[in-house]
Amino acid sequence: MSEGPQVLRRTEWLHKHLQARRIVRCHSARIDIPAEKLTGRTVLRAFCKGKHIFIEFDEGRFLHNHLLMKGIWRKLTGQQLFFPDTMWLALYVGPFTICNLKGQMLKLVNEDAVKLQCNSLGSDAMSLPFPRDEIYQSLGATKLAISEASLDQKVLCGVGNIAKSEALYRAGLDPRIVGCELRPVQIERLLEAISTVLWDSYNQGGRWTHHVYHRRGQRCEICGTAIRSMSLAPSKRATYFCPKCQSRDA
Ligand SMILES: [Zn+2]
Repeated sequence: MSEGPQVLRRTEWLHKHLQARRIVRCHSARIDIPAEKLTGRTVLRAFCKGKHIFIEFDEGRFLHNHLLMKGIWRKLTGQQLFFPDTMWLALYVGPFTICNLKGQMLKLVNEDAVKLQCNSLGSDAMSLPFPRDEIYQSLGATKLAISEASLDQKVLCGVGNIAKSEALYRAGLDPRIVGCELRPVQIERLLEAISTVLWDSYNQGGRWTHHVYHRRGQRCEICGTAIRSMSLAPSKRATYFCPKCQSRDA
């Protein structure tokens, strides 16, 4: 499952391997991505916002990718390639091929579509410097419970289900508190926690340290209370929390 840290690392990897390289040959399993539209193009850069990856080519072409739950990018070496059934796109750049497997969302788009997509997202919790003021404002204004607001990519982007539970635990906040009811000190704690959880994962190679996530029934490392989980609307995705450390009075 890819959240901001994994997407940023994968984007940096794509940039390192593809920047300034010409696509010598392209294989596409997607009728909406004709191979001839990318063959001969040069990659200018790869960049991301939240969980969305963009690869920019010359002549104003972009690949827009969202890995969702299963998408993968891989590097294959050698010219004689066996492409697995799960291959959506293969970009042969000479010494190696960069492949997208299992998509899961991959589109060929123009610059206007990229701008539209980026503008539809809230501030990127992994952009540097940390967009503190923007996220402070959007979290403090939302009528969603903070477990849901953290996941809402229009409020802020890059946080997924793991980072959400871990950040709320780190901040000691009840997941049911509504964003606009947070006190300033609580918003500050949540901002610090989100940034720390995301960058810790990035710095650990994209791995997570689970203090609460998928630990239902196990003991809280701080107080020993059993970790619980709950699902709130609209996402209905499980939030793992400590009922004592994250009570409303904690
Ligand atoms: Zn606890």
